Amino acid sequence: MAERDPLPLRFGRESDPGKVREKNEDDFGYFVGGDRRLLVVADGMGGEAGGQEASRTAVATARRLFEAEDGTTRPVRDLLEATVAEANAALLARQDVVPELKGMGTTLELLLIEGDRVSWAHVGDSRVYRVRGGVAERLTKDHTRVQQMLEGGLLSPEEAAEHPQRNVLSRAVGRAGNLSPDVVVDEPILDGDSFLLCSDGLCDLVKDDEIAWFVDRCEPQDACHRLVRLALDRGGHDNTTVLVAYKGRPKSVWKRASTLIVLPPGAPVRRVRSRKIAVRAVGLLAVVLIGAWAWLSYFSGSGPGPERTTATRKALDKREREKAAAAKDAARKAGAKKTPSPVPEAVPEASPAAPGRNAKRK
Ligand code: CA
Repeated sequence: MAERDPLPLRFGRESDPGKVREKNEDDFGYFVGGDRRLLVVADGMGGEAGGQEASRTAVATARRLFEAEDGTTRPVRDLLEATVAEANAALLARQDVVPELKGMGTTLELLLIEGDRVSWAHVGDSRVYRVRGGVAERLTKDHTRVQQMLEGGLLSPEEAAEHPQRNVLSRAVGRAGNLSPDVVVDEPILDGDSFLLCSDGLCDLVKDDEIAWFVDRCEPQDACHRLVRLALDRGGHDNTTVLVAYKGRPKSVWKRASTLIVLPPGAPVRRVRSRKIAVRAVGLLAVVLIGAWAWLSYFSGSGPGPERTTATRKALDKREREKAAAAKDAARKAGAKKTPSPVPEAVPEASPAAPGRNAKRK
């Protein structure tokens, strides 16, 4: 069915443990069923074992429900809410059995694309963005205490971004029985829309406009790779996971973007056209050298005969003919004034015009 879709979906993903943590407690998934595509990101917490188990349990639950026979046909809101509820119940049950896992939990982002409609469910501080027209719009609000203070006017956006408790969650999967996810269904997709899901390892270190810049210019997998690399260049203090889905025709700018290189903060990208520059430089140098060689050969007359160009040879022949004609003409004029002499006027040493030098020698 995907082949008949006039606006095909392209997908990319990358996850990295970062530069500080040994294990990656993030997990993600991309699942296809009928005309539906489900993207999942989960960022686990609660100790090394608990964090990994929490995120993997959430993604496995999403997959199980989506791949179940009714997962591809049941109403989207029902499917998304049921996925969050089942993941939550599974984590709570696990903590009852294994006390060491007490306190584990996970964020959970579910993005479901069906035809030209998109729906999502959200719990925690991972995010869903829509990039449209080069602008990244957050589709989710962080479930953190700092976000609550921001909305209550107690903090400015700048203070919230630097607040030491900005990662303390007010809602997470596996933490309480009465969990209520934020769910939005059946939003229209326009040609060229991209959707990005990420854990806070990315959005803590990469700004929204930088996310838009890469997603808008790079093919989805390339955008994921470059965004994760940018977060690592800026410290990579947390596990970092990025998924990008692009709906529409391929952009011509993607090919050129393949020559982009990520630089440190302050100068995020630069273009590299070294191959083209090298080819042009070699061509220009060749033209200059050939021109210089031809010029020297022409004016010095010293170029090896057989190797001279035809044009140079013709020019030299013409000069020789002109010189010979001038000498002949001068000789004829001199013969008309004086008696005929065998001494050609063109030989200055034989002329009496240098008496001083001859006098000195004597
Ligand atoms: Ca995290």
